[in-house]
Amino acid sequence: MSKEKLAIDGGTPVISGGIPGGMHGPSVIDQQEIDAVTEVLKSRKLFRFCEDSQVAAFEKEAAELLGVKHTLMVNSGTSALICALTGVGVGPGDEVIVPGYTYISTAAAVVGVGAVPVIAEIDESLGLDPVDVEKKITPYTKAMILVYMQGVPGRIDALVEIARKHNLKIVEDCCQCIGGRYRGRFVGTIGNAGAWSLNYYKVITAGEGGLVFTDEYEVYERSAFASDPAMPMWIRDAGWESEPFSRQCYRPSEMMGAMARIQLSKMPDILGHTRKLKRTFLNELVEPKGYRLQHVDDPDGDCGISAAIIVNDRELAQRYAQALKAEGLGAGTAYNDGFPDRHIYCYWDSILDKNSPHPSGYPWKDPAYKGNVEYTRDMCPRTLAILGRALRFGFNVNMNEEHAHRMAAAINKVDAVLGGS
Ligand SMILES: *Cc1c(COP(=O)(O)O)cnc(C)c1O
Repeated sequence: MSKEKLAIDGGTPVISGGIPGGMHGPSVIDQQEIDAVTEVLKSRKLFRFCEDSQVAAFEKEAAELLGVKHTLMVNSGTSALICALTGVGVGPGDEVIVPGYTYISTAAAVVGVGAVPVIAEIDESLGLDPVDVEKKITPYTKAMILVYMQGVPGRIDALVEIARKHNLKIVEDCCQCIGGRYRGRFVGTIGNAGAWSLNYYKVITAGEGGLVFTDEYEVYERSAFASDPAMPMWIRDAGWESEPFSRQCYRPSEMMGAMARIQLSKMPDILGHTRKLKRTFLNELVEPKGYRLQHVDDPDGDCGISAAIIVNDRELAQRYAQALKAEGLGAGTAYNDGFPDRHIYCYWDSILDKNSPHPSGYPWKDPAYKGNVEYTRDMCPRTLAILGRALRFGFNVNMNEEHAHRMAAAINKVDAVLGGS
């Protein structure tokens, strides 16, 4: 690759006019969502346990799409995780392994069911590092939560193998990976239960919302009880198999169900577009000199909503970020001293400080908990090192293929000059 003068040194920027941003789901809202929600309002049937329920229809359509037996719509991704964890039997005394790179909700959901989160390293997949997961297993470990950040499924095969070996449950946090697949199957259908979030920032949205899904009836039934203490009252003829228990209420409204149905029908088009953009981007990149691409086990299943390059060292990564910015491509390292990505464990103060809503110190000081997990802000040095060298780029429905070309061209140009240094 011939070296062109970088924009940061006074050359011509590769990208003029910027790269369009915007959220996925909200960007595709049109008359269909407006009509669907308006219909619900006109019908005055806002409660999910009504005739011709929109929520029930969404659950059915999602189950068909995912090829999964049971689906349960709830009011957020966090609630979906809480229900899934309750569903697989996690509770006081248990430890659950979570990656050091995820939205704090993943760890908070563990606390929410009275269990203790154990934070493990990520690797260059930017998901759980199987080697570190195995080191973090104790006699108290009950489950692990696999998280697929920004649409990229992690090292699922290796993690499933470890779970099998140690008899652990798997909950898949697919909140950022709706529609992602792994070796032909939708993510979330590989472990014991999967969770989607339908909040504003996700692939599809109902403003807020979530979905729990599983092939195991018992997990579904326990999730259902966990989502609404009156569940056996609302659905009397469901043929419940076990004793109901009382928990919180995470019930969604019919407006959410109606909107989620329309957005679900648009998901294939959204991901068709982002996958095309990412393919164009990857095809355009030349052999890198100063970085490696994020490891992706199964590129065909990637949602295509993001790409990450992992630069050879931290200082160089910062120079890449500055040079790319001058070329018109905004990018920061995920972990830095300026405006870091809050999805990194070292910013989860309420977890790291073991803040409890109760003087008992629950769940860390729960009498049922016999372990002794300790947290420090530098406890996952590899996670911090990788994220300190990782530059992330997003693809969205407002971009076209020319934007993806230009993004790759900017990276090629910067790498040609800085990559050898
Ligand atoms: C968004 C998100 C959640 C939680 O979703 P909410 O709907 O905001 O509760 C959980 N995990 C991950 C990885 C997320 O990105």
